[in-house]
Amino acid sequence: MGILEGKTLLVTGVLMDSSIAFHVAKLAQEEGAQVVLTSFGRTMRITQTIAKRLPETPPVLELDVTDGEHLDTLADRLREHVDGLDGVLHSIGFAPQGAFNFMEGTWEDVSTALHASAYSLKALAAAALPLMDEQRGGSVVGLTFDAKFAWPVYDWMGVAKAAFESTNRYLARDLGARHVRCNLVAAGPIRTTAAKSIPGFEQFERIWDERAPLGWDVNDPVPAAKACAALLSDWFPATTGEIVHVDGGVHAMGQ
Ligand code: NAD
Repeated sequence: MGILEGKTLLVTGVLMDSSIAFHVAKLAQEEGAQVVLTSFGRTMRITQTIAKRLPETPPVLELDVTDGEHLDTLADRLREHVDGLDGVLHSIGFAPQGAFNFMEGTWEDVSTALHASAYSLKALAAAALPLMDEQRGGSVVGLTFDAKFAWPVYDWMGVAKAAFESTNRYLARDLGARHVRCNLVAAGPIRTTAAKSIPGFEQFERIWDERAPLGWDVNDPVPAAKACAALLSDWFPATTGEIVHVDGGVHAMGQ
């Protein structure tokens, strides 16, 4: 029996088959879960095509996490496909190009990054909450890039990730009474569409080449996806507000 047997999961963030979320959806189906995907705007068509590469083709609902109407109607639109939800994957990140220059980034750039990449965790969890059973609860899992440090080039996206990590802790506080666990996976650099949009991303690749005691493959999203699947399962029943590092060990090294 798979670790996600009988679970129903909402998976955001499948864009290409390089997306971390694609591998979470694939593993989740292989481990027995029923999956619903979300996408938005012009990327809906791409997600629908990529979804056919999963073991079973899931429905794709429209959800721009910065759109109040999409969020308000999410629960009703989900009920057309599923009876309830056991877990939600937040695999969303966006910052305008200007946000990747710390001293030059404008408030408009920064506020867009914070809205789409940090506040969206609370917005998504709140929108999905009505589908989670009050007794059984559920699991909310998101993806961060370790926000303890000032990295090269990450700039206001790093600040947004710090806010995202804090949002996770407050969500854990407020949803604990509903038995909803909230956790993040801090992944090392992986060559996805979002990563390629960061100018100078190869600098992270060099840092991981030099510092990861376990080594690190920037083309392999599966280790991060496995940790997400585990956190969505019943195998972390007493863990919430946590950040699990899936980074080859870089976070623990002094140099
Ligand atoms: P990706 O480009 O495959 O996925 C990013 C997703 O965010 C896309 O599906 C995109 O459509 C979605 N998105 C952007 N704005 C949105 C909005 N307003 N509403 C709904 N969806 C929106 O890249 P990825 O690397 O798989 O990113 C997934 C998550 O992993 C992000 O939170 C990212 O910050 C995080 N992460 C990535 C890396 C890495 O190196 N790739 C490392 C650590 C953490």
